[in-house]
Amino acid sequence: MRLTLLPLLLTLIGAAATVAVAEPADPLSGVDWPAARAEATGLLVDLLRFDTTSPPGSEAEAARYLAVRLEAEGVAAELHDLGEGRANLIARLPATAPSGEGPLCLVSHLDVASAEAERWRQPPFAGRVDAEGTIWGRGALDMKGMTVVEIEAMLLLKRLGLPRSRDVILLAVADEEVNNTGMQRLIAERWPSINCAHAINEGGVGIIDGLFPGQVLFPISVGEKGALWLRVSAEGKAGHGSTPLPDEAPDRLLAALERLRAYEPEPQVHPSLKVLFARVGETRRGLERLVFTRPLLQRTLLISALMKNPLTRAAITDTLHITGLEGAHQPNVVPSVASALLDCRLLPGTSPEEMLARVKALAADDGLTYTVLNEFAAQVSPWDDPVFDALVRAAEARPNVVAGPAISVGFTDSIFLREVGVRAYGFVPFHLTAEELGTMHGPDERLRAEELEAGVRAMLGVLVGVVGG
Ligand SMILES: [Zn+2]
Repeated sequence: MRLTLLPLLLTLIGAAATVAVAEPADPLSGVDWPAARAEATGLLVDLLRFDTTSPPGSEAEAARYLAVRLEAEGVAAELHDLGEGRANLIARLPATAPSGEGPLCLVSHLDVASAEAERWRQPPFAGRVDAEGTIWGRGALDMKGMTVVEIEAMLLLKRLGLPRSRDVILLAVADEEVNNTGMQRLIAERWPSINCAHAINEGGVGIIDGLFPGQVLFPISVGEKGALWLRVSAEGKAGHGSTPLPDEAPDRLLAALERLRAYEPEPQVHPSLKVLFARVGETRRGLERLVFTRPLLQRTLLISALMKNPLTRAAITDTLHITGLEGAHQPNVVPSVASALLDCRLLPGTSPEEMLARVKALAADDGLTYTVLNEFAAQVSPWDDPVFDALVRAAEARPNVVAGPAISVGFTDSIFLREVGVRAYGFVPFHLTAEELGTMHGPDERLRAEELEAGVRAMLGVLVGVVGG
């Protein structure tokens, strides 16, 4: 019987192989990539020349410029005016074969952090491109480079002419760096017509040699730590500097701060980090593989190593950070009030109320007063999700990349999107060295041209995977 079936099986396998070979060609191979790189570079150079330092931001001019460029390509674009020269840009590529799923939003912000021009090797708002093709300017990474990647990918998707199952909406908002009013007002005033199901925003990036030399670690942000910003104040009798007395405000404050500084947070490994560790482990061999994949070794070796580095320690603990002191006036005058500013960042599972109780218990002085300046809990989007899978595939389409979910230590406009039910992911598809990462908000911010092109390729791959065909 078996012998008789064998030729038939071989025929079927042969047929299957033939079908596999006849797969449709990769749509990305139909793109003129040198032309796309030149177009994206031109857009970024122009965008960097708008000085959108926040405050005052003055993003409306840059938003209007992009709207004109998009309209010229047949992409509907509008400005959401915020007054005082500020505006959000909203552009839409509608679905042509709607699946009923909510829109996919491509999010960025148009404002930038301030730049001390005298510390830069190139002027921060000149949009210079050097001999290697590197594009210099404030916002090249944070985050006008991403705005351009999103626009270029949208334009290429439209030109490819594939049927689109979902609307793709570009949201390039104002005032992310300081007060987040752009995104908050967009949600308050325009949300019913946007209402996206997923958003791709800043928050994750490919880190060259992130954990191991020769490998790019690409944490894709699925959530952001919460925050509790506090003013802690001590009161006492005002008096003369010549005579120290017990219970003076500065003294009481310092004693409390000393106790707060002794805070030793317990490391907590969020489930997303376990997934990321496992994915890293799968790419390693020998002891490295064991350390990343075995829970006991993870706890004993990996976690203690992460706790020793301030950057990774912040990712696995609730942090308590004394960031400012207020109240001193003159050296010979004891003030009646002395205060400290605290920035606490909270992992999922720690509420702002719990952290406040922890701070009070540590400070151990019932006479102190606490003013909450800002508070919100950590938020996490599920990563068991087709858009998240598309981001991982796009990241790992480049060689020697390992991607997986992570919680960001800082927050972005995604916190407001998650509040209205959006699944938001941080995915800036550039590979950056530690030195390049350090230029965000610092001098010499720049983006290598090959990363701009690679970013467009990755974002187009995501769009084709999520809405194309
Ligand atoms: Zn940013």
